[in-house]
Amino acid sequence: MPELPEVQTIANGLAKQLVGRDVESVDVLTPSSLHGEYAAPEAFAKALVGRRIVDIRRRAKLLLLEFDPPATLAVHLKMTGRLVVPAENETPLDKHARVLFRLKPKGEAPDRLIFHDVRRFGYCRLFKPGGLETWDFYAKLGPEPLELRDEAFPGLFAGRNTAIKALLLDQTVIAGIGNIYADESLFRAGIRPDARTGQISAARLRKLGRELREVLTEAIAACGSSIRNYTDANGDAGAFQNQFRVYGRAGETCVTCGAKLESKKVAGRTSVYCENCQK
Ligand SMILES: [Zn+2]
Repeated sequence: MPELPEVQTIANGLAKQLVGRDVESVDVLTPSSLHGEYAAPEAFAKALVGRRIVDIRRRAKLLLLEFDPPATLAVHLKMTGRLVVPAENETPLDKHARVLFRLKPKGEAPDRLIFHDVRRFGYCRLFKPGGLETWDFYAKLGPEPLELRDEAFPGLFAGRNTAIKALLLDQTVIAGIGNIYADESLFRAGIRPDARTGQISAARLRKLGRELREVLTEAIAACGSSIRNYTDANGDAGAFQNQFRVYGRAGETCVTCGAKLESKKVAGRTSVYCENCQK
């Protein structure tokens, strides 16, 4: 699943291409890809036609398309979802296209936005003004890591005594982190993924906050990590996977000490770490 840096990269790419464009028509090819108040295809299409895209941003792992007159379209890509803007307006749709947004033509610019999703866990959810904030899933999201200061980090885990990685993956504790950036930030901070939060000093948790922000910032600069199904709005791949220190490297050598990297399940997820460097 794309995590914070990948979703941010997609939002940045889509914003460049689509801000200022008007929705001309919407074809819902797979109705189950719509959730929420506008889950009926006709209602969804009717609500969007004629609106202008004025902003595309990210919160947690959600893409948020803002319209004028005001409305917000939240898109969760989940495992295999993609939002693509085909360079060629006539390219035929493949069978995994779920929603087709046609944009009012503007010169030579592409005029289609396609929500594409092989496994169909992703969804589009449209909101009236003010509706997004009252959506239970959205209201419960934890803070954005890039907006947190180091000092705020220990407080996120206060009163919990759970494997630190489980809390990093919990979107209500901190938003946007998945398996990759949890493992990478824990390695950089020298903390085992299965370390109990009650046993980690505040100083080490502050360091984790700093390392997490750093790895996320580096990954955004590299346009995200290309793993499995991720590509940005132009179908391009990111490059951060070349900088992974632990993720996907079980059995390989630690970049710091040369020991063999271990792997174990933590919070139900394969976690790679160094026995030597992480305590
Ligand atoms: Zn090591």
